[in-house]
Amino acid sequence: MVSRIGFIGLGRMGLPMAGHLVRAGFRVTGFDANEAAREQFAAAGGEAGSGVEDVAGDADLLVTMLPNGAIVRSALLDRPGFATALRPGAVVIDMSSSAPTQTIALAQELQARDVTLIDAPVSGGVAKARDGTLAILVGGEAEVVGRVRPALEAMGASIIHTGATGSAHCMKALNNYVSAAGLVAVSEALHVGTRFGLTPETIVEALNASTGRNNTSERKALPFMVSQSYDSGFAMNLMAKDIGIAADLADELGLKVVELALMARLWREASEALGPDADHTAMHRFVGETARK
Ligand code: NAD
Repeated sequence: MVSRIGFIGLGRMGLPMAGHLVRAGFRVTGFDANEAAREQFAAAGGEAGSGVEDVAGDADLLVTMLPNGAIVRSALLDRPGFATALRPGAVVIDMSSSAPTQTIALAQELQARDVTLIDAPVSGGVAKARDGTLAILVGGEAEVVGRVRPALEAMGASIIHTGATGSAHCMKALNNYVSAAGLVAVSEALHVGTRFGLTPETIVEALNASTGRNNTSERKALPFMVSQSYDSGFAMNLMAKDIGIAADLADELGLKVVELALMARLWREASEALGPDADHTAMHRFVGETARK
């Protein structure tokens, strides 16, 4: 049974997720490289660790919610003594959106230390992280998934077991590709439709009543794109990373998939042009600027 949890990565997603674990009664020690994030976690009732070693301590379960798999690997293995601070039999859940092949390799390295890694990336964004209603995809052996299920249930409303370790990270990258392609399509429809003379509100209302509706038309178009607030809480560089993971995977599998390759290039170019602080919904602005050239 899991009682003590270490949590690394208290960012936009990790902070509310770790808060749900605290409220569910787990003893949680959290760490983030950013001091303000550690202070916010302590203010929310968690124990803020002073370093990653502190967080491993005698945790039964270690959760990582970091930008990407390379950072997860470095947080776990680049610091002498950190992975060995995890007690044998401990479980690590990488809830970041990481690359599946890297996850499988890291799981093998940790298994040699008697630590089991499973992947459990999430979908739903900051709003669902705050509500504790995330969709959580989980890859790992059924027995291990069963052991950590109470912790996952504290953070999410639906838990979908996708198969072996790495399968959830594969599915997450594919989901974000489909979502990102839909966001670009809605952005283009908004720019073409308004140039023709339709109002953005009419375009969104019509899409949502018709077969073109998708998550972007329903949840993002009006509040973040038409309003030009571009502040959904999910960074563009993270979305570009996810689509890159899906495109690299297709490549490694020997598959030539045209739209995925196109999306990977478009999102990488937009992310480079708009910089590290851009929200992913600013793709609407990028598409508009590109269309005028
Ligand atoms: P974020 O940038 O807000 O948070 C990441 C946190 O990790 C930051 O607080 C940073 O200080 C910390 N960090 C970085 N390197 C560290 C290290 N070596 N040691 C300790 N802390 C370190 O990002 P986020 O939006 O919370 O996303 C986290 C993960 O969740 C990403 O993989 C992202 O793709 C995924 N994700 C995000 C959303 C979203 O809507 N924001 C939705 C689903 C999935």
